[in-house]
Amino acid sequence: MAKVLITGGAGFIGSHLSEELLKRGEDVFVIDDLSTGSIENIEHLKNNPKFHYSIDTIKNEPLLAELVDRCDVVYHLAAAVGVKLIIESPVNTIETNIYGTELVLKCANKKKKKVMVASTSEVYGKNNNVPFKEDYDVVLGSTKNGRWSYACSKAIDEFLALAYWREKKLPVVVVRFFNTVGPRQTGRYGMVIPNFVKQALLGHPITVYGDGKQSRSFTYVGDVVKGITELMNNPKAVGEVFNIGHGKEITISELAALVKKITNSKSEIVYIPYDKAYEEGFEDMQRRSPDISKINKLIGYKPTMDIKEILEKVVEYFLSTNAHL
Ligand code: UDP
Repeated sequence: MAKVLITGGAGFIGSHLSEELLKRGEDVFVIDDLSTGSIENIEHLKNNPKFHYSIDTIKNEPLLAELVDRCDVVYHLAAAVGVKLIIESPVNTIETNIYGTELVLKCANKKKKKVMVASTSEVYGKNNNVPFKEDYDVVLGSTKNGRWSYACSKAIDEFLALAYWREKKLPVVVVRFFNTVGPRQTGRYGMVIPNFVKQALLGHPITVYGDGKQSRSFTYVGDVVKGITELMNNPKAVGEVFNIGHGKEITISELAALVKKITNSKSEIVYIPYDKAYEEGFEDMQRRSPDISKINKLIGYKPTMDIKEILEKVVEYFLSTNAHL
């Protein structure tokens, strides 16, 4: 059984990954500074003797080096995420995403520990050629617009990971996540599904930003966790970049209506201009959908849950943990 280090293991995706790997009998080591993660996410894992966690930042190099040393593989999920957070704390976003990844790769390289680097569909930026294939161009906006710093920092992470593979033969796998959702995701950093569900359950207005015609494709976190562990177990994934997501798009207006219906809510659906929701000059992506043929071909990846089933799970989660309402 492998010993696995998960940076950002108390985050939304990290905690689901921790849970899954523990179920498979692996030893799980987590490092998380709780900037966007929470102890609550891993509360149920704390009593498992195979679960170990350090509440600290990945920028603590001696600690990170020791943890990497103790483990066989690394899932590097620690990052500044969420559009709202990125706009509010741009310095932290750039530093955490670039410096943090640099340290993880440097430590892993000492004994050539395999690393999965979590990237994002944001790197496709303003490219309109949907669905996105892994080798499509990165099209980013002006540096005046803070949003693009996130995509840019993640693109640098990808360049660096691939450079470590090419130049130093460090085994890396780069995965671009597309709107991963499910229980435990918080709306605090701007993510749309937890926001809408909470608003609908409380009877507050459901806030659609822009005209609501922008679309996304949402993937259940369980499908994502399964996909990334299979990629990490496949030698052919090394040195490659993979999209992981769901091929089916939904507009944000349609999503608001579906949330309203599933929750049986009387909430009004309101439209808020981007400038008010985020900042002056904010640019959104109109469409974002992955081409998943590459990951499908290698490991037979297919998402199992559609948006309705995902929303039902999220609603159930909010209702079972009243504290989040
Ligand atoms: N969004 C919205 N209302 C909200 C939060 C987000 O209409 O309360 C929109 C947001 O502008 C974007 C989409 O929903 O067009 C997805 O937003 P999210 O932050 O979840 O993910 P991303 O922008 O990274 O795709």
